[in-house]
Amino acid sequence: AKEAGRNTFRSHHLDVSTDVLNDLVIRNGLRPALERNEFSLHYQPILTLDSGALIGAEALLRWQHPTLGNVPPDRFIPVAELTGHIVGIGEWVLGEACREAANWSRRGLGELTVSVNLSPLQFRHGTLEAHVSAALAEAGLSARCLELEITESTLIGDTATLVGQLANLKAQGIRLAIDDFGTGYSCLAYLRRLPVDRLKIDRSFVADMSQDADDASIVRAIVQMAAGLGLRTTAEGVEEAHHHDALKALGCTEVQGYHYARPMPADAFACWAADRLGQ
Ligand code: C2E
Ligand code: CA
Ligand code: CA
Ligand code: CA
Repeated sequence: AKEAGRNTFRSHHLDVSTDVLNDLVIRNGLRPALERNEFSLHYQPILTLDSGALIGAEALLRWQHPTLGNVPPDRFIPVAELTGHIVGIGEWVLGEACREAANWSRRGLGELTVSVNLSPLQFRHGTLEAHVSAALAEAGLSARCLELEITESTLIGDTATLVGQLANLKAQGIRLAIDDFGTGYSCLAYLRRLPVDRLKIDRSFVADMSQDADDASIVRAIVQMAAGLGLRTTAEGVEEAHHHDALKALGCTEVQGYHYARPMPADAFACWAADRLGQ
């Protein structure tokens, strides 16, 4: 038992130092990653809940590191936010997602929307609106085919500036969504002042909806409030058929999750979409 205990301690100790080491490797790897083409985007379908029609896809960042392999975004994005690299990476994501979405319409997949995640730092940097316009123009993508996902943490701080930035983006015809809705900043009054189109209900509520009456109540409340404000709702992380049924009963409008499709590389998504359209 003593031996096992010592082994447990040693492997635990090892894990901790490996984590610290990996953080350093991640930190140092972020700078050259863009030039070395180590980033790519995967696309996860977003569907209407009633008819299952494909309306677009969320672009999700992937990083293939030369020694660490595939590093999940939850691991490196917080580091990139600390170092500021997320601004340059985010610019690349915008450009790449717009180019890909322009391809979809060229391939006859219809007018699909691409949803891009934005870090709060990209707003604070001040050049976001210019980068968004440039990305759309360079790709030849219509503004209404781009949706920007912001988290509630973006809404903390200088809201006057942020409301102005969002209004400018909105005036270009771009759509706006609040991501991970319900997990962050709890003041709902901002919803009246922000020109948002969509709330994405965080997957933690969706996952526990069937077992946990409180989570079902939260989902119901979000859907009803959104409907009252004229906003659409997308449930994230729909993994099971019973989630789908429960969301339908609650009046949620759109869905995304493993139950329908996982995030896929660009080519696989285009094939999936073509298949869906019966092409
Ligand atoms: P998110 O924006 O909430 O993205 C949804 C995450 O849920 C994705 O994880 C997706 O793969 C995962 N997901 C989708 N369906 C299901 C499901 O049915 N079950 C479960 N368990 N998970 C599901 P991913 O790709 O690992 O991304 C994690 C987070 O990293 C994202 O969360 C987002 O906050 C951030 N992220 C990803 N790409 C970008 C990016 O380009 N820029 C920024 N700033 N953040 C990004
Ligand atoms: Ca998102
Ligand atoms: Ca989310
Ligand atoms: Ca999230």
